[in-house]
Amino acid sequence: MAGKSSLFYFNLCLGGYMQVLDVLKEAGNLAQKYKNMELYEQLLTVREELSGLREELIQLKEENKSLKERLELQAKVVFENGLYWIRGDRLAEDKDTPICPRCWDVDNTLMRLKIYKDSYGKESVFCYNCKTEYYL
Ligand SMILES: [Zn+2]
Repeated sequence: MAGKSSLFYFNLCLGGYMQVLDVLKEAGNLAQKYKNMELYEQLLTVREELSGLREELIQLKEENKSLKERLELQAKVVFENGLYWIRGDRLAEDKDTPICPRCWDVDNTLMRLKIYKDSYGKESVFCYNCKTEYYL
């Protein structure tokens, strides 16, 4: 029985959802053919429950993907010279990108800093989120 349950989950994950719906529809047709309305209603309930589980599975997959991305990103973040840096930032042509220490530490938000030269020609960075300025 455990094997069947795993197979069911596997099919659900791989888009076998439509196949399961077809089986339920066929079972519903048989229930109508043999005039078993109680069974027919039970099958409708199963179909609704299945739809809810599928929605939940999709949501959990999205959350899982997002958490994995966050973990991968955290593994690339290092603290150096008073700033956090993303080593090999995918969104910045694999260069090292400074991120705001205040936003990262206080709000757990990753804010890439804008690099610019101030009026004295000193390289600085600015956070558009918390409006903090740092020297490099
Ligand atoms: Zn900030």
